[in-house]
Amino acid sequence: MPIKLPSFRARRDVYPPDLWTKCPQCSDMLFNKQLEKADRICPTCDHHFRLSAAARLEMLLDQGTWRERDAGLQSVDPLGFVDQKPYPERVAMAQAQTGLRDAAVRGTGAIEGQLLSICVMDFGFMGGSRGAVGGEKVARAAEDALADRVPLLVVSASGGARMQEGTLALMQLAKTCAVLERVRGARVPYISVMSDPTTGGVFASYAVLGDVNLAEPNALIGFAGARVAAGTIAQELPPGFQRSEFLFEHGFIDRIVHRRRRQSRGTPQNGTEAKPASFNPIGAFLSTVGGGGNGGDRG
Ligand SMILES: [Zn+2]
Repeated sequence: MPIKLPSFRARRDVYPPDLWTKCPQCSDMLFNKQLEKADRICPTCDHHFRLSAAARLEMLLDQGTWRERDAGLQSVDPLGFVDQKPYPERVAMAQAQTGLRDAAVRGTGAIEGQLLSICVMDFGFMGGSRGAVGGEKVARAAEDALADRVPLLVVSASGGARMQEGTLALMQLAKTCAVLERVRGARVPYISVMSDPTTGGVFASYAVLGDVNLAEPNALIGFAGARVAAGTIAQELPPGFQRSEFLFEHGFIDRIVHRRRRQSRGTPQNGTEAKPASFNPIGAFLSTVGGGGNGGDRG
């Protein structure tokens, strides 16, 4: 008789399938509906759970301003890559699970009335791995920002380059860095937001090249895993050295941004819930750079 092995479940903090989620930081059991309402922040300990691309866009952008671009881009399989299963099969599975075509979604939207070109990543799609499509979407978002002279905003959530695309995934580092250099040359502002996790080739390219680099609290940010990094330099590394707070203390990140519920803009009639006036750091920053476009205080 064949032995039936238990199947592995997806990590619960990615997409909890059922009613309750256990907070990995304080171990409180959280009711999923309430967690969603609170922008997926633990009410007890402030832990920031991962966000889907759709939830991120809804939280960041003014209502009704989102316009997706390049929605049809999806990975091909140039290397004919097979690990435990063929790469196209993996992509199809991730697409069915998330409803996305790739881990990156891009388009235009507005924050507090300021139009911008935006690209967000979704860790739920193959660990947010960045292949040719992800790189292309970041590059095109940057090109749109250049063409329209609007700020560029990229929200990263990635385990790094997509192994199944090999060197084509690695080439995205050069491509995205090149177009961001043009953005910098044209004095178009670029804001990078690093959410949990921002690692590997995403960290090594566009995630840390912002004019302003923001991070969510306690996000894992780094190039290689902690053990690999410690092994490479043969030294013990301090606890939390790849977390937002440590990187902020050491000047690598400009600000740690708490994810907060934004009030809906321009619809004052739905004042049923008296929420505290929310501060939107990205919006505040955009309003300082959006108006004049003189940019003389940078660089
Ligand atoms: Zn908690």
